[in-house]
Amino acid sequence: MNFLEERIQKDGIVKEGNVLKVDSFLNHQMDIALFKQMGEEWKKRFADANINKILTIEASGIGIACVVAEFFQVPVVFAKKSKSINIEGEMYIAEVESFTHRCKNQVIVSKAFLGPGDRVLIIDDFLANGCALQGLISIVSQAGASVEGIGIAIEKGFQSGGRVIRNLGYHLESLAIVDAMDAKTGKITFGKQ
Ligand code: 5GP
Repeated sequence: MNFLEERIQKDGIVKEGNVLKVDSFLNHQMDIALFKQMGEEWKKRFADANINKILTIEASGIGIACVVAEFFQVPVVFAKKSKSINIEGEMYIAEVESFTHRCKNQVIVSKAFLGPGDRVLIIDDFLANGCALQGLISIVSQAGASVEGIGIAIEKGFQSGGRVIRNLGYHLESLAIVDAMDAKTGKITFGKQ
């Protein structure tokens, strides 16, 4: 088991409905030493990608992305969830369905902060069905920028997102892949990286 899998095993809580709670170190209270280990690991895994920007989505991606950015020495842009529609022209817009909140959000990124020539590393906390990632990928593509890599902390391997994103040819690096989890026993099984 790697450092993140060990932490999930120790402090993760399996909830009904295929939800893994990691509020004590990732999603509410944040363990910055752990985030640094994650940043170091992604820096190794994306050593050959010449990244100049990190893109994430609010809210839980932001903390991780900021620490990771220290390792790549690049700025972080986060997609904002927005209800406002009177912004066409200045913003890239994508629809994202939330797995945890079961609602649709528009996410936006200002055209001022992403454009042609940008080489983007996308960072997020979880990958489930891949809606959040598809939204971010769409924003990068609207900008004429390129997705050089995708770093996910926890991929739920029993949901379809990872397979879909890898099949599209993206370089996706998940630090922990949960193959199965059981809300009754609390047992979490990890898959191969
Ligand atoms: P997707 O769009 O891939 O279906 O879901 C990804 C988003 O949903 C992540 O950004 C994360 O915020 C949230 N999410 C999905 N599954 C889980 C989960 O099991 N636990 C937590 N805490 N968040 C999740």
